[in-house]
Amino acid sequence: MGNIVAIVGRPNVGKSTLFNRLIQRREAIVDAVSGVTRDRHYGKTDWNGREFSVIDTGGYVVGSDDIFEAEIDKQVELAIDEADAIIFMVDVESGVTGMDEEVAHLLRQVKKPVFLTVNKVDNAKRAADAVEFYALGLGDYYTIASTNGSGTGELLDAIVAAL
Ligand code: GDP
Ligand code: MG
Repeated sequence: MGNIVAIVGRPNVGKSTLFNRLIQRREAIVDAVSGVTRDRHYGKTDWNGREFSVIDTGGYVVGSDDIFEAEIDKQVELAIDEADAIIFMVDVESGVTGMDEEVAHLLRQVKKPVFLTVNKVDNAKRAADAVEFYALGLGDYYTIASTNGSGTGELLDAIVAAL
């Protein structure tokens, strides 16, 4: 099995925050040695001794609220082609949106492992609110907070087990 994990989802759900958290350690080493820029969408990381690459999608969109739905679809389709596993990130603060439903529709047809990940779960109320994402028809989900890393360990355990 390959080792590429793509993070997809509509703008502002927290994809880049998770990406930066995942590659931070590794990136710091690369920076010190070669001065490679941090502004890129591929990074390497590892979890429990298992190395894998992470793709952050949508990063080039300036004023990211203005992204077209077709553009997200294109990125999801590219990620589906390229990745071995997909993190589909949604945002408990906003709840289920039409764009989430659109992406879920694409991902329900994918044979690769898809990890529905509800981000911004910073407190117990938000953990309870996350149940609404069952409506996306992708089964169970992981709850995380990308800003402080809460819940990411369980998600990463599941991802490396699937790679
Ligand atoms: P992207 O467009 O999906 O890449 O989203 P970003 O990573 O740029 O994050 C969008 C906004 O959500 C930023 O203001 C982040 O600080 C915020 N954010 C990301 N993760 C969390 C989280 O776990 N909790 C909260 N409360 N805010 C978050
Ligand atoms: Mg981003």
